[in-house]
This record gives sequence, structure tokens and C-alpha cells, in this order.
Amino acid sequence: MNADQSLLLYNSLSGKKEPFIPLHEGRVGMYVCGPTLYSEPHMGNMRTFINFDFIYRCFLFLGYSVKYVRNITDAGHITNSAGLEVDSIGSAARLEQLQSLEIVYKYNVKFQELQRLYNLLPPNIEPTATGHIQEQIEVIEQIFTNGFAYEANGSVYFDVKAYMQRFPYGTLSGRKVEELEHETRELNAQDEKRFFADFALWKKAQPDDMQIWRSPWGDGNPGWHIECTAMSTKYLGKQFDIHGGGMDLKFPHHEDEIAQNCGSFGCNPARYWMHANMLNVNGQKMSKSLGNFFLPKEIVEGSSPLFSKPYAASVVRFFMLQAHYRSTLDITEEALNASEKGFERLVEATGILQKIIPSDATTWDLEAWKNAAVGAILDDFNAPMLIAQLFEAVRIIHAMNIGNAQMTSEDLTDFTAFFTQLLHEVLGIEFVHQAGNERLEGVMEVMLALRQQARSQQDWATSDMIRDGLAKVGIQIKDSKEGTTWS
Ligand code: AMP
Ligand code: ZN
Repeated sequence: MNADQSLLLYNSLSGKKEPFIPLHEGRVGMYVCGPTLYSEPHMGNMRTFINFDFIYRCFLFLGYSVKYVRNITDAGHITNSAGLEVDSIGSAARLEQLQSLEIVYKYNVKFQELQRLYNLLPPNIEPTATGHIQEQIEVIEQIFTNGFAYEANGSVYFDVKAYMQRFPYGTLSGRKVEELEHETRELNAQDEKRFFADFALWKKAQPDDMQIWRSPWGDGNPGWHIECTAMSTKYLGKQFDIHGGGMDLKFPHHEDEIAQNCGSFGCNPARYWMHANMLNVNGQKMSKSLGNFFLPKEIVEGSSPLFSKPYAASVVRFFMLQAHYRSTLDITEEALNASEKGFERLVEATGILQKIIPSDATTWDLEAWKNAAVGAILDDFNAPMLIAQLFEAVRIIHAMNIGNAQMTSEDLTDFTAFFTQLLHEVLGIEFVHQAGNERLEGVMEVMLALRQQARSQQDWATSDMIRDGLAKVGIQIKDSKEGTTWS
């Protein structure tokens, strides 16, 4: 399937949905800002990565060949919420008495585990800032040559005033420089800058810096935004299709990336800018600095104080995709329980579907349903609309089960394949039983037999120990009249 003509996506640059026209037919180049690995990514970070994983999967489903680049920030000075430029990796390294790259490696191992836990497809490349210092220096040199940078005391700044004589600044965020001046607090090294909106391309080394590189301007560190300019152009070219990230990166990070790209290569790097909205807790953005965050592992282990029980990672992923990527989403126990119920209905329907016996005729408009499901994907990757179509399929599965609807053998095969593809490949929702994990199936059989034995001997302590221990690793046991099942 190639849907060049009909895929609509919301472009943050224009503020509206636009037809997606790739630079090269049938291909997509997509760059997404990855995590800064000075700590373990929290559930909010994961929401953004899950959303872009879904978008990536949608492109694959639509038949595009995709080059998906997501970086890892392991160096650089980042502007924090107080407007200060800080080396967060260096600070964490000093605190944990480790070297910077040890910190990054430690949290990268965790991040890779989380990607598997939440069933994220690996990007094609995950380049690191530290692996591209030379490329960053070269972009800065180009910006210098073009007259949009200046050196001050061993640091290099982007010259926003000079830039604004040739290019507009603020096209993505809609922010006006004059208005920004009122909002801007005192920045450190503010006096080195010629203009308050100028931003660092290179920062002179400080005595306590944990990582230092040589440059034409002396020893130092790259600024925050330059890594994404250097790595996106290296792997995707000076112009590519999509640049994505969380909504909070729109300004200043993405705005400054556009300025750097225009200032070095003369063009906005991406034709479509996509921003995923925030995961909130009680209406407030989940963030490290607010302290209202929890870790993606805590929710599956049941160790987060916010929730009274654990939730399987696939249920959490399903919950995330029940909101559109451009909407904010509040995470609550009530909402997770509702998602869990919906998830169980999907598991149950999948089981029933395998037992449906075909008929001579089909009494349901299969094509209309397929079109509606694809239509949801084509309408700016509308996951909740797609999920609504899955529940429409669940309704028909139950109808077939009680003889109120029929499908021919051919349609039933087609329906089953499409339903399964949407659920597992596009939404990335896996059921533990269906993950092909035969070893786990075997272990669970033994566990349930042991628990059954304990229960028959009225050994409730052992029975509860097995149930609680499994719950800790995200496996839930359910007793019913028909016997014990697990998910
Ligand atoms: P960081 O590691 O801080 O650079 O963040 C990694 C990604 O997570 C960025 O794309 C952020 O925009 C995104 N992000 C941070 N907080 C949240 C949140 N509460 N909800 C969704 N995405 C977030
Ligand atoms: Zn970035």
C-alpha cells in the first residue's frame, strides 16, 4: 500500500494537517530527539518514544521504507527549567562518583531494557553526541563562515541578531524575540552574549567539567542543540521528511536547531515537524524537576506509590495509545484499570476468533471496516480511532460466536490477518501468551501446578507468595470457575 496522496499529518510548522509528500517517493527520513541519559527515563519520556514508535510502525504498515534516527544525548550543556545552562550528565557523574560515560552507559542499558519491555522497535540508528563531536565542530565552523556566530572568551554563541537579518527566527514556536526578552531570566555567562536570545554552540571548559574536547576555540563542550543538527544532517541529509520530539522541545531546542540548520546549510532541515504531547500527573507535566515522576519499571513491578497494583507493560502501552499523540494524557489508576479491562476484551476476542467456524456467506462489510481502520492511521496517526475500530471487530467476533454474524472462510482469514496485524504490528500490543515465549509458558504451567497443589493443601501462604511474586514481575493470576489463567 502506498498512501502518498491520502496520508495527512499535523505539521507544527504550519499549525495544520497537511498531506504527507515524501522527499523521495516511498521513503521516509525521520529524526526524533532521544533521551538525555543522566538518569533513567521516566514514564513521560516513554510516552513520547511510544508515540513515535507507533508513528514509525504506521509508516511501515503503509509500505514506506523508513530511516528512523533517534539520538542519545551523552554530552552537552542543557538549558534547565530555571534558564540555566547546566551539564546534567557531568552533575550526575559527580554525584554518583562515576565517569560521564559510565553514567550514560548505565542508563542506556536500562533504556534498552525499557524499549524491549514496552515493545519499541529499535530505530535504524541511535547515534550519540560524543560520537559526533567533529561533525558538531564542522557545523559550528560553517555557521561562523556564514557570519552567524561569534567567539567570546573561549565559548561560541549563535548570533541571533545577525541571523534575523537573513532568516526569520521563531517560525516554529511562534515566539517573537521582543516578547522573549521579558520572559528571559538572567542566564549564566549572560554577559558573554551580545544579545539575550543568543545561544551557546560551544562552551569553554570549566575546571570541574567531566568531559572536555579540543576545538578551534579551545577546550570545551558542545552546546545543547548542535548535536541534533550535526547528526540529523549526517544521517538524513540537509533536508529530510520528519523531525519529531516532545512538545516541550519545540522551544528553544527545535527553534534553535532550525536556526543552526538555516545558518549553516541555508534551509530548515525538516519539511514536517511533529510534536508529541505530555504525560501528566494530576494535570501537571510529569517531570524530573517537579518530582512527580515514576519509572516505567515501577508501574509493572507495582512499586510506584501512585498505584495500588502492578500493570503489564502491554496494558500501559495500550493505555498510552488510547490517547492521540497530540493530546495530553493524565495517568490515573482509574484510567489504567479501564485500559486493562479493554485489553482483556481484546485478549478474549482473539481467543474466540481462533475458534470461529466459517460460513457460506459474509454478513458484515469487511472492506468498510478495513477502510475505516486504515483511515484512522491516515488521519494523523489517530491511534484512539484505530482502537475504536478494533473494538468494532471485537463486537463482530462476539456476534459470530453466538451465531448473529457470519463470514466466509476467505473473509475470515483476511479479517483475522488484518485484525492481528493492526493489534500486534501497528499498535505493537503483545499478549504474553502470544509472544511465542514457549519457555515462559512452560514455567507458568509449573508455577500454576505448584500453586494449585498448595491451595489443595490449604497452604495459603505459599499460594499467596506465588501470586504476589508473579505480580511483581507483571504476571497476573486470575482464578475463576473454569480454572486459573494468567496474563
Ligand atoms: P529528555 O531526556 O529530557 O531530553 O526527554 C526525552 C524526551 O521525552 C523528549 O522528547 C521530551 O520532550 C520528552 N518528555 C519529557 N517529559 C515528558 C512528559 N511528561 N510527557 C511526554 N514526553 C515527555
Ligand atoms: Zn534534539
